Parts: sequence; C-alpha cells; structure tokens
Amino acid sequence: MKKKIIVVYQSKEHCSSCGKEFEVFWECPAEGFGYEAQLYECGDCKEIYAHTEEDVLYGKALDKQIANLLCENCHESLTQTLKKKKLFSMCHHCRKENTVSYRLEEYRGDLATKKEVYDLYSS
Ligand SMILES: [Zn+2]
Ligand SMILES: [Zn+2]
Repeated sequence: MKKKIIVVYQSKEHCSSCGKEFEVFWECPAEGFGYEAQLYECGDCKEIYAHTEEDVLYGKALDKQIANLLCENCHESLTQTLKKKKLFSMCHHCRKENTVSYRLEEYRGDLATKKEVYDLYSS
C-alpha cells in the first residue's frame, strides 16, 4: 500500500491522565460535500488508513478492497482489524484514550493540516 498526504484537522490537548500535551486530529469536512478523507485505524496497532468518498463511489466496496490486505505495520488482516474512526484522541505519551468533543461537521480552516497515511485504494 502506498502512503499519501491528506488534509485533516488537528489541535493540541492536555491528556486527562498524564497531563502532557498531545495532538488530536479528526476528519476534515470537504467544501460542498462529505469529507476530504475517511479515516480508519488498525485496531491492533493503531496504524492510520484513509480513502476518499470517490474511491468508494467509483471503485470497489471497502470490504472487497481490503479483503486481501494486511496491515502495513503489524501484518494482521485488515478485514479483522480495520475500524472506522472520525476522531483520534489517544495520548501519544501514555496511550490513554481521551474524551474530547469537537463538532466534527463544522468548517474550521484554521485547524486544517496535512498528514501522511496509508491509502486503502492504492493497491
Ligand atoms: Zn497521557
Ligand atoms: Zn496493524
């Protein structure tokens, strides 16, 4: 699988467990329709994956696309481990899953940033 650069929203939060600062990121709404990228993670190792809405509209269904794919990091079958995730709020220092609430549909251009992730439709 190839990596690609996508647009996400990102902000800094303080972890409720260890108190250190960490980065939260989440799906960025596209202008007009849907999201810039749909975000997923491997439930086992937390590697991040993405596809666009067009990939699914004009290509294979996601379950067919990932049928023979393994996680690039832990090599588990993505059929078993891939999970949809809109908001990534796990502290990088202590791995505590923080509760943060963002209005995910709201357009916040000031929070947009680029992130490199694996493209589920690149293979
Ligand atoms: Zn922490
Ligand atoms: Zn994995």
